[in-house]
Amino acid sequence: MVSLVLVSHSKALAESLEGLIRQMAGETLKIGVAAGAGPDHNEFGTDATDIARVITEVDSPDGILVLMDLGSAILSAEMALELIPPEVRQRVRFCPGPLVEGGIAAGVQASLGSDIETVCQEAHRALQPKAEQLEGGPEAIPPAETITPTQEGQDYQQVEVVLKNAHGLHARPAARFVQLASKFDAEILVTNLTNQKGPVSAKSLNALATLGALRDHRIRIMARGKQATEALEALRRLVEERFGEPAGVLAEPKAISMPPKVPEGEAVAQEGHGILVGLPVSDGVAVAPLYHYESLPPVIPTEDAADPEAEWKRLQEAIGKVRHAIQMRHKEMLARVGAEEAAIFEAHVLLLDDPDLLQPARQLIFDQRYNAARAWKSSVEAVVAQYQRLEDPYLRQRALDVQDVGNQVLRALSGEIHEKVIFEHPVILVADELTPTETAQLDLEHIQGIVTLSGGPTSHSAILARSLGIPAVTGLSPTIKRLRQNTLLGLDGFQGRVWVEPAEEVQRELETKRKRWLEERQKLQETSLQPAMTRDGLRIEVVANAGNLADAQLAAKNGAEGVGLLRTEFLFLTRQTPPSEEEQFQAIRDIGLALKGKPVIVRTLDVGGDKPLPYIPMEPEANPFLGVRALRLSLQQPDLFRTQLRAILRAGAITPLRIMFPMVASLEEVEQAREFLAQVHNELAQEGIAHAWPIDTGIMVEIPSAAIKADALAPVVDFFSIGTNDLTQYTLAAERGNPRLAYLADALHPAVLRLIEEVVQAAHAAGKWVGVCGELAGEPEAVPILVGLGVDELSINPAGIPKVKALIRAMASSDAQVLSKKALACAKAAEVRKLSTEFLNTLQG
Ligand code: PEP
Ligand code: MG
Repeated sequence: MVSLVLVSHSKALAESLEGLIRQMAGETLKIGVAAGAGPDHNEFGTDATDIARVITEVDSPDGILVLMDLGSAILSAEMALELIPPEVRQRVRFCPGPLVEGGIAAGVQASLGSDIETVCQEAHRALQPKAEQLEGGPEAIPPAETITPTQEGQDYQQVEVVLKNAHGLHARPAARFVQLASKFDAEILVTNLTNQKGPVSAKSLNALATLGALRDHRIRIMARGKQATEALEALRRLVEERFGEPAGVLAEPKAISMPPKVPEGEAVAQEGHGILVGLPVSDGVAVAPLYHYESLPPVIPTEDAADPEAEWKRLQEAIGKVRHAIQMRHKEMLARVGAEEAAIFEAHVLLLDDPDLLQPARQLIFDQRYNAARAWKSSVEAVVAQYQRLEDPYLRQRALDVQDVGNQVLRALSGEIHEKVIFEHPVILVADELTPTETAQLDLEHIQGIVTLSGGPTSHSAILARSLGIPAVTGLSPTIKRLRQNTLLGLDGFQGRVWVEPAEEVQRELETKRKRWLEERQKLQETSLQPAMTRDGLRIEVVANAGNLADAQLAAKNGAEGVGLLRTEFLFLTRQTPPSEEEQFQAIRDIGLALKGKPVIVRTLDVGGDKPLPYIPMEPEANPFLGVRALRLSLQQPDLFRTQLRAILRAGAITPLRIMFPMVASLEEVEQAREFLAQVHNELAQEGIAHAWPIDTGIMVEIPSAAIKADALAPVVDFFSIGTNDLTQYTLAAERGNPRLAYLADALHPAVLRLIEEVVQAAHAAGKWVGVCGELAGEPEAVPILVGLGVDELSINPAGIPKVKALIRAMASSDAQVLSKKALACAKAAEVRKLSTEFLNTLQG
């Protein structure tokens, strides 16, 4: 994160400004104050030595932005540059923006993780809103909902993309979209072409939500301004990469078996036998006394604001406090439920900064003299109403997030503290609805079940309940609210049933079911962590494909024996400048550490051609898939390659890593790549920097020439990993992802299987091992065939690991060999699939 240095003639001014920035930008931002002169810095003036010291103290690999007040402050700051080490100096940027407004704008932008250029630009432009407001009057503030591009389509560039992630632009992906859009100096608008909503600003979370953009909706992104092209490219990629969601993980709610006759949101109560029926949202069984959980509405004073400035400040202070609390909660939930589920709290932080909430509140304070709480409440209610008008039930539920964040600010304004409720004995919690914040504060030791009246299976409380392993039922009849505190309840989260004062016999049944459920959960957990061995004793390594830290965390949780393919592209795409060595080192190290000692195969950069990088000049190519991509690009960009190799070797000193080169076509390429690697090792050794050496080095086999000449390549590598996605596209000459060629995109084609067989034989003859890391490795029909062909390692989507391990345990390798021989003799992919399906049926039977 970029750090800030505030240079001012007045220590008091700079320190107060630091406080103000922190309230907006949080505690993680590094801010240095170099202000005042004299022994205690209490005199007005600036001091070059002091500025140099502070710059060095807050040094950050992402850069240090220096903001100054006037006159000699600028001179002193320039002198300070002479006094700091050159490697720090090159990261310093002087910002011409105003100190106060610029400092606040820079702080907020830096806290979003923007690069120094963007942070500086934000600070530079910081007087613009004030100028517009004072010159144009409050009416000049543009409405936040729908924006009409001045001249339809003109001077805007645009792209169209289809949302392929589980829930479209819902809170977490939308948060990533806003964070990324905010990084560019461009006006960016988004329209939902599927339902004709928009365009709205891409920099407001609430405005984006009004698009009702769901999975499979087509959206148009329009941009104009200095960085329009880059912004469009980065946002397009973000959407196409499903916002970093692990591939193949379907929307969580789809995994829930719904009772067919209970419509969502209006569950039926059958009170005849003391049984209430709702929607099952989190598996499990519980029997415990009821606890009514009430979240009381925050208190809103009615008097007018005597001093609008002071009220606005109070509101911002309250927002600052809530931001800090949410950041803490995010940290805690990261450890408890993982990045994917905890990401909702990142979205909550963004909501706090959303202009749709802030601007109307500000206007009400200054124009109508509303007090801070009343103004904020009106603003929140307007946004909540916007969400509630949306058609999609999933997006409608996001109203709860705005309400949740809104209430926290109101509580902070009234000085109320939201504390954890701790119980002395097990309970089943009954609530109208639970916000993510309330769910995060649950006393896990004693809450055995959750019953809510509203909030469907996709509500955050349901998602968190599933991650926390607490059985839950939702959509219950309000009758349950009339029950006495401590009434005994039974809860079945599989079926969505709640028993009121169950008879002893029912209690016993439920207790038995609970015991079985806990045992099975434990067993699945244990077996998914055990190695995968066929019935006749052949051990297959089951590892994961990962494209970010969240994948790696899920992989570890699901029993991956390592990462077989770390796609490092996530570090390079969606940005304007190449990632530094330090950034790459930290990201790879963190992924390695998430695997807790299990090895991670880091694949060097696989971009170029079809995935250009904005910071690498590249000639347009007629056939990008046959162009300068992957290892070919790395060999032509020595600085980029060397930096990545340094980062990998350094991270390898901390956690076990292996290296893999993508898209190898010839032996010469491997020789060159290995030479680079050896040079980097020598450099690091000379510089005395800790790094892994020697390091296992392998290649991806995804071009037919590499498969056919695997015997020549085997002696110069430690392992092969077969990339069946590309190997299939190059073998069948059918561009992957082209829907009209989908009929050719089957990696179980016998031609591909023959290449795999050749690779395995050549590798084993040279004493090397072979993995498969294309999507094929995770397909149940492919698993026995690959095992039969002698593949040693399967690298698959993290979500699929327990199933593939169970499948391997159910088969005998001798049977798999017979199957794979038959498959090699087939003429068509469809015949192979049929054979394999029959094989799998015999396992199940
Ligand atoms: C492959 O080609 O099979 C592979 C795993 O690499 P990617 O999908 O990243 O190109
Ligand atoms: Mg590939």
